[in-house]
Amino acid sequence: MKWDDLEALFDRGDVLSIVLANELMAYRAVDEAIEVARKQIRASKCQGCGAWFVQRRSNQIYCSKKCGLRVASRKYRERKR
Ligand SMILES: [Zn+2]
Repeated sequence: MKWDDLEALFDRGDVLSIVLANELMAYRAVDEAIEVARKQIRASKCQGCGAWFVQRRSNQIYCSKKCGLRVASRKYRERKR
């Protein structure tokens, strides 16, 4: 969808199409913004609590030390049983 197309729609008075076209372009802009942000900050899902967090190291799998320790101690208890 280009501005020329929008102008053509506007000439025809096709208001609903204009609204839809604008929304589609907005969604695409949001998608692109998320993609750029995802590349700049390494976001990852915590293996402990499932929350999204920003990785300080590329191999970081827990959102915090506390979360990592909690999973480690849970695994330790499961091994003991
Ligand atoms: Zn966590």
